[in-house]
Amino acid sequence: HLDRIAAVDEDVHAFLHVSGARALAQAASIDQTRREGAPAASALAGVPLALKDILVQEGVPTTAGSKMLQGWLPPYDATVTRKLLDAHVVILGKTNLDEFAMGSSTENSAYGPTRNPWDLTKIPGGSGGGSAAALAAFEAPLAIGTDTGGSIRQPASVTGTVGAKPTYGGVSRYGVIALASSLDQVGPCARNVLDTALLHEVIGGHDPRDSTSINRPVPQVVNAVKKGQSQDLSGMKIGVVKQLRGAGYQKGVIESFDAAVETMTKLGAEIVEVDCPHFQYALAAYYLILPSECSSNLARFDAMRYGLRVGDSPAASAEEVMSLTRGQGFGPEVKRRIILGAYALSAGYYDAYYGSAQKVRTLIRQDFETAYTQADVLISPASPVTAFAIGEKVNDPMAMYLNDLATIPGSLAGIPAMSVPSGLASDTQLPVGLQIMAPALGEEVMYQVAATFE
Ligand code: GLN
Repeated sequence: HLDRIAAVDEDVHAFLHVSGARALAQAASIDQTRREGAPAASALAGVPLALKDILVQEGVPTTAGSKMLQGWLPPYDATVTRKLLDAHVVILGKTNLDEFAMGSSTENSAYGPTRNPWDLTKIPGGSGGGSAAALAAFEAPLAIGTDTGGSIRQPASVTGTVGAKPTYGGVSRYGVIALASSLDQVGPCARNVLDTALLHEVIGGHDPRDSTSINRPVPQVVNAVKKGQSQDLSGMKIGVVKQLRGAGYQKGVIESFDAAVETMTKLGAEIVEVDCPHFQYALAAYYLILPSECSSNLARFDAMRYGLRVGDSPAASAEEVMSLTRGQGFGPEVKRRIILGAYALSAGYYDAYYGSAQKVRTLIRQDFETAYTQADVLISPASPVTAFAIGEKVNDPMAMYLNDLATIPGSLAGIPAMSVPSGLASDTQLPVGLQIMAPALGEEVMYQVAATFE
């Protein structure tokens, strides 16, 4: 895999940092343990992985795609990083992302965009485009992503790979640089559903270091995949969300989605249409809640504690250094969201904006609850469009935000959701992803349905 990275990553640019020597040393030590007769640490022992550069690994550069953290070396491991190392998964390096995970194309990375291996002129999705592209380019068989509004599912969709966002609290956020704490979730990515499930079981589980972590056993998703591989969906009710198809969705995407529905019918599933009337407000609510939380989370980048420091001199005040550093360290999308969030949270507007958005969030959660009385899982396209050209939407934030149309409702509700490839779009010949959404803690049924797409 290191050879493959050396051969293709100049074009793809999936990685921000390749830990070559470290990975080889780790592999050699795993090999040695095996020679000594020790049992494998996990089903994934010795398998290489690409880590999104928003999870910390002790002593390995971590930038979150921002100039703000250039050159910073974390002094500790994220819980997920530690679990991977304990399971003897070999970490190949850190993958590219939109700055602080804000974006849908990786074009907001301060280190240049990642390119989609299916067509190097196209975006690989975002924010976790680096992880998804590393999988699609065969630079790594496993990857870790984070999903706040779709950053695992939309990149999986546009690169023809698999990515799952667990139930909120299912995987520890300790050591993940925070974007929006009430939405952020770490998840597994791979080229097939079984590998994704194997990785899910390695990273999942309760962590006392994350106060929102759920104290429940890790879902048995590998068994669920085996169940799904029997290709039998009889007795399963699958809900097609009326609001997540139609206006704004590309023709080739809808065609591929309809074909997937037909396949599920043939496998014995009963298809029902479900109505989620408040989903139309999901994007608006998300783009108030997320900036509000991120304006607060990003206040820690104050030029004093870590990372970039600009304009430091005996004559400069702390405020001047902070303002110069934040002015130069953050890119335009990050600044836009900090300003929007600070405004939405300000005294005179808090109730009107942040308060209303929270109410909408509750209504969306209730829509899901009602829908799950009618269906076991819900489905939709994962992304309204296939991969678009690099540069096409970069100057139009609203057009960029619309890429998250299908993924944001699930994020606001905290439910598990994943994207599996459903084929190529007839109009662009590029991959389309099917989104499968389950009730909270319903990972097993989600993986079971996903496995019928292997
Ligand atoms: N594209 C979405 C955004 O820009 C999702 C980001 C994410 O999930 N990290 O906010």
